[in-house]
Amino acid sequence: MISLLIPCYNEQEVLLLTYETVVAAAPRWGEPVEIVLVDDGSSDATWEIIQSLCRRDPRVRGVRLARNFGHQAAVGAGLDHVSGDAVIVLDADLQDPPSLIDEMLAKWRQGHDVVYAQRTGRRGESLFKKITGHLFYRLLDRVNEVPIPRDTGDFALMDARVVALLRQFREHGPFWRGLRCWTGAKQTAVKFERPARAGGQTKYTFRKMARLAADGLLSFSSLPLRMPLYLGAALMVISILATAVCFGWWLLAPGASISAVAPWLLVLYLASAQFFCLGVMGEYIHRIYAEVRDRPRWVVRSTIGFTDEAQSSAESRKAA
Ligand code: UDP
Ligand code: MG
Repeated sequence: MISLLIPCYNEQEVLLLTYETVVAAAPRWGEPVEIVLVDDGSSDATWEIIQSLCRRDPRVRGVRLARNFGHQAAVGAGLDHVSGDAVIVLDADLQDPPSLIDEMLAKWRQGHDVVYAQRTGRRGESLFKKITGHLFYRLLDRVNEVPIPRDTGDFALMDARVVALLRQFREHGPFWRGLRCWTGAKQTAVKFERPARAGGQTKYTFRKMARLAADGLLSFSSLPLRMPLYLGAALMVISILATAVCFGWWLLAPGASISAVAPWLLVLYLASAQFFCLGVMGEYIHRIYAEVRDRPRWVVRSTIGFTDEAQSSAESRKAA
């Protein structure tokens, strides 16, 4: 079975059209389909539409969140409710064209665990969004510890095994497009030009975009916490160089007084020591953060050479 997971927040203008587009494409996929619609605390008729679709079509299921928890939370809630062998996450506004799903399924059947859609361009989005999006993915690429392909959103197909792994991530502010890569799943891309919204307005306010960017950057990079350490080290080098210059100057001109520069040197040394201490604390905080997020520590893709006995005892240990 194939599960489509669609987070919806105030999508009354487009939801029906999206449903019809998906249902029209579904017979091509050659497998039963379930459509899981997650209502992220909509204040319009979205839930009523989901209810009526459920009554009309047994393939549709609805999950209603108690309030607006945000797009990533809605995807997380949906992941807990899907049961397909392949799960495809897509937006409710047809900006993630269901026509791409054919190609995704073909690549999945060839053996890829994750097939993500990569935008080659965006239509109908503000210049501000295009520029910030462009910069964000490049910055993320520079600082993150897990390579996350550029210009990809949550629109992707994931094998049930990847979904089972993602369900183990109980962290707050999940950044699914990054966690998906974190699992080390065998990935490939399909490219597409992102069309404009089929109706309605974007539900991503500036605040929500900033929140998502912060979640992405902070949960995949320790750089902000390590910054003071680097700064402290740089200042220490500067302090030592400045001391050497002053000393040389004093040697060349023995009469020169160093009392004018000594306080400045002291300030430099103290500043570097302070940054260093902050950096050391950052290092501890980073470790505490890693512990409280409690991600799986590693993922084994396969093992070889174990006798059945050893393997089953390892499995029973894991179950215990
Ligand atoms: N969405 C959501 N909760 C939110 C904001 C958005 O579930 O708080 C959903 C929205 O209904 C859509 C998807 O997330 O299906 C992407 O949102 P949108 O199209 O507004 O973002 P954009 O494409 O403009 O980045
Ligand atoms: Mg959209």
